[in-house]
Amino acid sequence: MINKDKILPESAYLDHRLVKAPYLRYAGIIDINDNDKVYKYDLRLVQPNSEMVSTDIIHSLEHLLAVATRRYIDGIVDISPMGCLTGFYIVTINQPYEKLIIALEKAFQDILEFTEVPFANEIQCGSFKNHNLEGAKQYAQIMLDGRDNWEIGAKNAMNKTSNAELH
Ligand SMILES: [Zn+2]
Repeated sequence: MINKDKILPESAYLDHRLVKAPYLRYAGIIDINDNDKVYKYDLRLVQPNSEMVSTDIIHSLEHLLAVATRRYIDGIVDISPMGCLTGFYIVTINQPYEKLIIALEKAFQDILEFTEVPFANEIQCGSFKNHNLEGAKQYAQIMLDGRDNWEIGAKNAMNKTSNAELH
């Protein structure tokens, strides 16, 4: 018999009422072998069930974070918007929380200086007209203004049975 609890993603065990955005939290760690780990993170920009980032803005942030974050850290597998439009999932190989949080802070600072959204064209993007650089910069500033909350914003919402390290 299938254990239904086992087939749900980690986010299904997070009490979204108890988080306080913005924050960065571990959403899971998978051991690949003795030396390598996959780290999954939940980077939350706005308060769940209270706000949503518009699709043009979160799309631009996706492009901007893809470029800016990789300037400061290796091992980024993916940075993808959440379907609920409140944040991003970030997946890394062998990049623990302490390193990623520094890279993200620098990336958001860099985003403030961009003069165009990178690779926002018909060849490299699937909806190249659906962008909003100025809106993305506003959220970058909101993230930086809320930097003191990144480590603590989800602390009370983590399910204790999750195998993710608490942050
Ligand atoms: Zn795109």
